[in-house]
Amino acid sequence: MTVRTHGGKVAAGEEQGMSGITSAPGAQAAPPRLQQELAETLQRLRLGGPFYVLLWLLAGTASGLWERARWPFLLVALVFLLLNLLRFQVRGLPDGASESAVRRRLDWIWTLLLANSALWSVAVAWLLLTTPSESARTVAAISSYAFATAFAHNFPMRLREAFIALGLLYLPTLGALVANGSRLELIAVSCLYLLYVSLALRRSHGEYRQRLDLEDELRRQRDLFEQQSRRDGLTGLANRRRFSATLGDWCARARTDGDALVLLLLDLDHFKSINDRHGHAAGDACLCVFSARLQAAFPDTGRELVARLGGEEFGVLVRGGLDETARRADEFRAALAAQPLALPDNALHCSVSIGVAAFDPRRDGEGEALYHAADTALYRAKAAGRDAVAVADPG
Ligand code: GH3
Ligand code: MG
Ligand code: MG
Repeated sequence: MTVRTHGGKVAAGEEQGMSGITSAPGAQAAPPRLQQELAETLQRLRLGGPFYVLLWLLAGTASGLWERARWPFLLVALVFLLLNLLRFQVRGLPDGASESAVRRRLDWIWTLLLANSALWSVAVAWLLLTTPSESARTVAAISSYAFATAFAHNFPMRLREAFIALGLLYLPTLGALVANGSRLELIAVSCLYLLYVSLALRRSHGEYRQRLDLEDELRRQRDLFEQQSRRDGLTGLANRRRFSATLGDWCARARTDGDALVLLLLDLDHFKSINDRHGHAAGDACLCVFSARLQAAFPDTGRELVARLGGEEFGVLVRGGLDETARRADEFRAALAAQPLALPDNALHCSVSIGVAAFDPRRDGEGEALYHAADTALYRAKAAGRDAVAVADPG
């Protein structure tokens, strides 16, 4: 065990590892809300396609288009089939996909939907205007109304595009009814139904947005809760829970990869007397300023973790060598002793004792033994007079 005190004096078992206490920014990921919109639009996209093919074949056969204009009729059926295949070709995107990629994919889906509606619009107008059979016209008209209703309920995500699709699906049928001199009651009922479908679309759009807002809020709350459950409320550092989880993870990694890992345990000296002399609020402020200085001394968040373990005790995990980490720990100790903590209305002298231990794969399993070694070293630093760094002997 090696202990270096504030004067640079070495107490107990020097030398061991203590040579001078040495030792293209990517595109922005799509927000979850947009990812959700893509997933839901995609899911619904696959539902409707086959119905256009089927109902076109049904209405076309009933109207005699099959006999009268076989090739144009088949061509329309073929394009419906092609659009249907394209619907099944569209894929989702991975979670980290960029916002522009998700928007482009959504634009493509809406292009397919609008192309499908436009084709129906032209095809059904052709059928209605050229077919004398009342029953065939009824099949075509009911199909249009059913498609419009299904669209209003299934695709409320983009209001403007959904209204265009609704118009394409519905208005040519309505126009053909008028052009064919259908009965006034039928035209009136069709107009009323169009009003109903339009209102239904507006309402489902509102409900859809409300649901996304709610899910956004739930995600926000979950993230906040998750963050709070891993952070110390006073200092904003990682809390003991996160520290313990990281200790386990990094020990496991050190064991498999053979990487160096060092644990520092820090305890402020005579902190109780700071509280007694200056009050608990000043003590709290001390802890905050101390935390900020400790975090600044070990800033590499990918390789270092600074945590408040409770009270005036802190832990630092460093994926690095023992000598270098012990040197940095001593630098931190010395700087703290030399420069008081700057509180809002005064400056307080404060010192810290630090226990240092290096991960040893033969001794340290999940990290308990490493913790124990650093804690024992800390105890030695305290026993040696405080304001000191003590390094545990390798296991
Ligand atoms: P030592 O050098 O042996 O570590 O002495 P110490 O006074 O620091 O140790 P002790 O464990 O006896 O006292 C720790 C004190 O830390 C007791 C408690 O009043 C204070 N403390 C613990 N948590 C907080 C906190 O969140 N805020 C404040 N202001 N004080 C705290
Ligand atoms: Mg303590
Ligand atoms: Mg203390």
